[in-house]
Amino acid sequence: MPTNALSGWGRYPIVTAEEDAPESLGRIPSLTGRAYLPRGQGRSYGDAGLPAAGHLAINSYRLDRFLSFNPYSGVMDAEAGVTFQAILRIALPRGFFLPVTPGTMFVSLGGAIASNVHGKNHHHSGSLEHFILELEVATPMGTLICSPAVHPDLFRATVGGYGLTGFITRAKLRLKPVETAQVECLRVRAPGLDSLFALLSKHDADYEYSVAWLDTLARGRSMGRGVLMLGNHALPSKAAGTAGSAGMAAQGGSGAPGTDKAANLAYRDKRRLKVPFTLPGALLNRPFLSAFNEVFYRLSRGGAGGKSREGFEGFFYPLDRIGDWNLLYGRKGFFQYQCMIPDPRGEDGIAAALDFLSGNGLGAFLSVLKRCGDDRVMLPFCKRGYTLALDIPFRGQETLRLLDRLDDLVISFGGRVYLTKDARLRPEAFRAMYPESRAWMETVRRYNPEAKSNSRLAERLELWKT
Ligand SMILES: Cc1cc2nc3c(=O)[nH]c(=O)nc-3n(C[C@H](O)[C@H](O)[C@H](O)COP(=O)(O)OP(=O)(O)OC[C@H]3O[C@@H](n4cnc5c(N)ncnc54)[C@H](O)[C@@H]3O)c2cc1C
Repeated sequence: MPTNALSGWGRYPIVTAEEDAPESLGRIPSLTGRAYLPRGQGRSYGDAGLPAAGHLAINSYRLDRFLSFNPYSGVMDAEAGVTFQAILRIALPRGFFLPVTPGTMFVSLGGAIASNVHGKNHHHSGSLEHFILELEVATPMGTLICSPAVHPDLFRATVGGYGLTGFITRAKLRLKPVETAQVECLRVRAPGLDSLFALLSKHDADYEYSVAWLDTLARGRSMGRGVLMLGNHALPSKAAGTAGSAGMAAQGGSGAPGTDKAANLAYRDKRRLKVPFTLPGALLNRPFLSAFNEVFYRLSRGGAGGKSREGFEGFFYPLDRIGDWNLLYGRKGFFQYQCMIPDPRGEDGIAAALDFLSGNGLGAFLSVLKRCGDDRVMLPFCKRGYTLALDIPFRGQETLRLLDRLDDLVISFGGRVYLTKDARLRPEAFRAMYPESRAWMETVRRYNPEAKSNSRLAERLELWKT
């Protein structure tokens, strides 16, 4: 089996490990006979998707078959390696969308389940867990089907369980009906943090999707200035239908009944730019970041009254337009630090975190603030409150020291860090953030008593000692 250099999306750490990509589910029992870790598209940022030393990475990308799709209920059954992009290609023209989606569609179904991903609609719909009807998991104790009703302990430990209960081979997911592939958007600028919080709560009920971009370098009264981006799935509009019909006719469409519907729901692959090689990390320095933030803030006014109608890709997946954008951070890579701070101290905690970031010059590109609700899995990341995600270039020991101090601040507000983004949390900080980890690991051990499926993340956080 080939030995490859593997990393998460943040490109820190990089490890070497044997890797295999079985082309059929029939090979899973023999591969999981040895020490391993399931791996999807490698879009987790840190070491959650990196096998523990001596373990094999079992990559799912060839396990990409759809097993069934019900065009009336939107329930699909698929192998773990199908990507969210592949699901959209199949489901969107049939009038269905992902019920929950992260900010990239290049994730595998298995990887998304193992991280219990959340999206811009967490405050309305929660995380992916609520839409998974059934899973098949190849655990070291045998292959089992689980659901909220059957082996519920396995289900709740596997969803958001980072691959530690075994290899998810296939899953049944309920998609959500939509009438178009577009989103009705509203963009509103907030000159400071208080107005941003006020706008978020004002628009929570009216918009299914909401997310705010923040300028983490702004200080004083401008601290926390940002742009709130809101959206709802668009209904068919006459104009959109007509434009779509014309487009279809130009491509040989008939103009027959149903043509407008097809045009409204069309999935079109977009051309993508690509970062060709690793850039010197020093390019992303503080003056560049300040200038970028200023321009982004000033240009983010949206169309008339901030309103616009956009294709779903621009709204949900803006970063997917640039292939390999992680290379922009240079050879040392970067961290995505995502924390959540629960109510009632969420607003104070976010303000303190921003104060810490700007005070320590730890400005981040693409800082994102979201409202969230409560997760129900055994190791939940989201709780009712706020989550803040920051892309921070790795500049050596000083970055690590500052992030350790940020952990302490997050802990003091009762918050926690998202493990699918993490590469550096200390075990004691993890235990303070996740008191649920003991019960979760008890269940993990029932299905994986000898740590056969094991990751660098689990070793670093000393999970097997929990
Ligand atoms: C640009 C970008 C935006 C993102 N936005 C969000 C967001 O908004 N919300 C959010 O929640 N996340 C977000 N993420 C994180 C991403 O959604 C998760 O890390 C997801 O788990 C990645 O899926 P993957 O297929 O790449 O899995 P990998 O990174 O390969 O693996 C992730 C974890 O899943 C486990 N795993 C993978 N396949 C299986 C399987 N078949 N069986 C069991 N375990 C398995 C791995 O062991 C590992 O622990 C974002 C990531 C990027 C790069």
